[in-house]
Amino acid sequence: MVRSALGDRERANALPEQTARFDLLIANADIVSPGEPIRRGHGLGVREGEIVAVAPMAEFDGASAAERLDARGGLCAPGFVNVHNHTPLIGVRGMVEDLGFAPAYTKGVPQGHWLGEEETYALARLGLYELMRQGSTSVVDFYARPAALARAMAESGLRGWVGGRIMDVDTAALADGRFERDAALGETTFADNVELIEAWDGAGDGRIACVWGPHAPDTCSPELMRQIGDRAAADGRLVHTHLAQSPMEIERLRAVYGRSPAEYFDAAGLLNARMTAAHCICLSDADIRRLGAARINVAHVPVGNATGGQWAPVEALAAAGCNIALATDSKSADMLEAMRTAIAVARLRAGGRFVFDAATAFGWGLDGGGAALGMTGRLGRIAPGYAADIVVFAADAPNLRPVIDGVGILVHSGNGSNVRDVIVAGEIVLADGQPTRFSADDVLRDAEAVAQALWRRARAAA
Ligand SMILES: [Zn+2]
Repeated sequence: MVRSALGDRERANALPEQTARFDLLIANADIVSPGEPIRRGHGLGVREGEIVAVAPMAEFDGASAAERLDARGGLCAPGFVNVHNHTPLIGVRGMVEDLGFAPAYTKGVPQGHWLGEEETYALARLGLYELMRQGSTSVVDFYARPAALARAMAESGLRGWVGGRIMDVDTAALADGRFERDAALGETTFADNVELIEAWDGAGDGRIACVWGPHAPDTCSPELMRQIGDRAAADGRLVHTHLAQSPMEIERLRAVYGRSPAEYFDAAGLLNARMTAAHCICLSDADIRRLGAARINVAHVPVGNATGGQWAPVEALAAAGCNIALATDSKSADMLEAMRTAIAVARLRAGGRFVFDAATAFGWGLDGGGAALGMTGRLGRIAPGYAADIVVFAADAPNLRPVIDGVGILVHSGNGSNVRDVIVAGEIVLADGQPTRFSADDVLRDAEAVAQALWRRARAAA
């Protein structure tokens, strides 16, 4: 019976005695959620994909549940909201990080346009499996052949925002350092995104939403940007992109269009609170003010940025009014690593000033992501009314001891491989480290075969 709950919000959502039946009851949980002190020995009642009750275990006496998960001894947190990924890029992981720049601009490595539908699908499955294993329950994924990404997303059981990779600058020419418009590429990639939306928006029991995915300022012509801006304004869809990723992008835009990346997006009508822009590295003070005034969402990618020798001015962006969200960008999928890297890099850049703390970074990876996806009040916390997207960490992980406040130990010492169970929309999609909807062995085997073939081709072409 759920007699009462802890706070006003819980009380408002408390269940009458006769309805204390749940689809899923997570028992004996030590709950760590942004904005709340650790709650020990709690029960968590889920119905129709939503958290409907959070209360001390004693209050669940007599409650019935179709399914029960015992979380005793392990921390229980909201699933991470990972707002920027390109799962097919898993195929070049471990091989490009020491080369200097993004694969699309680098010769001698496999290129995205080599990937067919099935190859994209195989790599996406691996990427999503890894994201799930490391505790991400909401994932933004966008790349070429987005229908394959959506298919993999729907099968995984994750909550996904999927987009295309719209661009009309020839990537083969880019690899040679030339900057040439390819109108046919623009038409094809735009059409792919349109078809994606028509076929996949709302699929996967409503877990999949589709977004517009203009690739970057230096790979989309003003005409194409304006086309995307008009469509996004008309349908109100989210827009995911890259912004101010490199000095090369800034120089090229300045030389060709006389604008900064922020000015360029603004001119296309894309700079607003529905936009999530990854990286946001090379920014002037005026750009930061412009992005803040537009209330854009920054997909902060601290590990990828730092690996490339770069950093984003997150403190200034947040102060200017941007919402900060966090992403692993198909490097490792470890959001806890991303959180502590964000803190460490920010403190280095601030000359030793202790900017940001574990609670701030934890919030970026949870309700900051929820806000970026237009899901404030639905994603990123464990409370009634929120989606039942929940992660249980292993009780026997020595790196997760001692548990005093819960947040500090997770952010400063935890890692994604400590994740034991993952629940999305009330469904257990990872049970004791094993996916419930697909064969992990098949996913590993198929993705490995695709990647090996891509590298054979790249070496033959080099
Ligand atoms: Zn990216």
